[in-house]
Amino acid sequence: MAGEATPLARPWQSSNRLKSSTKGFIVLAVVLVMIVAQTELVASKWEQRQPTSSSRSLFTCPQLGPLNPSKGSKTWLDRFESRDFVNAAVERFSGAIQIPTESFDNVKVVHSTKIQEDNFVRFKDHLLTSFPKIRDTLNLTIINTHSLLFTWQGTTPTTAPLLLMSHMDVVPVLPETLSQWTHPPFSGHIDHPNDWIYGRGSVDTKGTVMASLEAIESLLAVGFTPRATVYVSFGHDEEKGGFAGAKEVSKYMENVLGLGGRVGMVVDEGLDSFTEEAGVSVVTVAVAEKGIATFEVVVETHGGHSSVPPRNTGVGVMAQIVAAVEARPFPVVLSERNPFLRTVVCKDEYAGVVDTIVREGLRGFYEGGREVLAEYLASKSLASRYRMATSQAVTKINGGLKVNALPEVVTAYIQDRVSMDSSTAEVLDVTWKNILPVAKELGLGFKVINIGEVVYEWVPPAGSNVGNVTITLPLTGLEPSPVSPTDNDAWRVMEGTIHSVYEEAGKKVIVAPGLMNGNTDTKFFWGLSKNIYRFAPVMGGEGYHTVNERASIKGYIKAIKFYHELIRNYDEI
Ligand SMILES: [Zn+2]
Repeated sequence: MAGEATPLARPWQSSNRLKSSTKGFIVLAVVLVMIVAQTELVASKWEQRQPTSSSRSLFTCPQLGPLNPSKGSKTWLDRFESRDFVNAAVERFSGAIQIPTESFDNVKVVHSTKIQEDNFVRFKDHLLTSFPKIRDTLNLTIINTHSLLFTWQGTTPTTAPLLLMSHMDVVPVLPETLSQWTHPPFSGHIDHPNDWIYGRGSVDTKGTVMASLEAIESLLAVGFTPRATVYVSFGHDEEKGGFAGAKEVSKYMENVLGLGGRVGMVVDEGLDSFTEEAGVSVVTVAVAEKGIATFEVVVETHGGHSSVPPRNTGVGVMAQIVAAVEARPFPVVLSERNPFLRTVVCKDEYAGVVDTIVREGLRGFYEGGREVLAEYLASKSLASRYRMATSQAVTKINGGLKVNALPEVVTAYIQDRVSMDSSTAEVLDVTWKNILPVAKELGLGFKVINIGEVVYEWVPPAGSNVGNVTITLPLTGLEPSPVSPTDNDAWRVMEGTIHSVYEEAGKKVIVAPGLMNGNTDTKFFWGLSKNIYRFAPVMGGEGYHTVNERASIKGYIKAIKFYHELIRNYDEI
């Protein structure tokens, strides 16, 4: 990380500290020998624990110890145990859930734009009312009308800043599902005896919005001032892709604040970060996420009366195209580049001793084990399958307006999540080659367009053309993300803080690097930092994107502690 050398003794900086302290000095040989010996001892210990990208260490899962801040007081954490604090914090969280900041693909269908916009204004006001110290101390920049960027100015501007990210919008609640909710989705109902707080956004992701601000408000209350500037950004349209919110925030941070490549660490929401494997808690921090390619497929055929249809209507052609696409899923590939391999290694090392197929697959990785292991993991869960394969989903189809008329145009959308070992161009290539035989067989012209450029065209023999198929890509395109490092200070702060906050007496936690199948707002922040970590710090939620979404109150309070300690630990890098 950029910035000044720390005067603090950090367990994982010992070797550097000793080395630098010897530099430039003439010392007695005996002292030098002692220091070098000590340095090497520390270094070799560290190397044993240090993840590197070499294949030798790819198959081990070194774990750091808990990382606790050396400045400040341990008693700062006591407030989070008090009933008064918990009750008040949960009320504030509930207040945030009660404001329906829903993101609709087409806002006009459900609510007026005005109502939606008012909700974001109310949400911002709720934050400023809930956290008066933040309101009075941090600088708030409103970006593109509704996204928020808080700046907590550090005392040492040369130190690389920390960026905590979340989003304020939530997926909508289908009116048809209202009766299935135990408590209404925007009630923010608090059920202390059962440790739940209910509502849309309780899991995704108002918990991270509120917990990060609770942590900062608490640090302000004890007089903490960071050396490194802390930015907190909340987008308002993550559930629609983040193009109006996070994208604009990233542009502002890069172009106006001049922070391109200079942010020391970005922490954004994750998904299913906590799993229990054979009695061991495994916490996954996503160090990469897959790419996206969305194809539009258009079938144009002759219209006419339904009483004299051709052999295949436009709908029938599209049905065959969809069948051809679904018949050929992308292969599973478990490469060294894919952080999912690191997750598997960690789970095997600490929690999977009973799964001999995984163990043997890892041991014989380069002798055929890789393929067996990949297929085995894919067969166990879809989420695992798609951490190794590009997924392909036909998500929308439109065609036909009248039961007795043949549709001239039928359109379908296919969304692919691009694996770490592929690219949008390769996915396009595979997809159109799967569809081409359908067009040829049925006698339709065939055209493939990649960002306005025709990359392939097939014209049927003269007189036999019954229509056309056009595949366009990318309507939206995103390559797989860079892989964030796990051998630097930013990762060590992340991992060490997780150990310190989530390990309880007698219960160890394993922290594993991993891969997100979906995308977060961080896709716009690659230019700001190479250290991007996606983590869901609120343990124990349910109902993600569906009915009865609810968060654990205890999990929520832990998340506040996580941000609190993360900010302090980061400040001591
Ligand atoms: Zn989310």
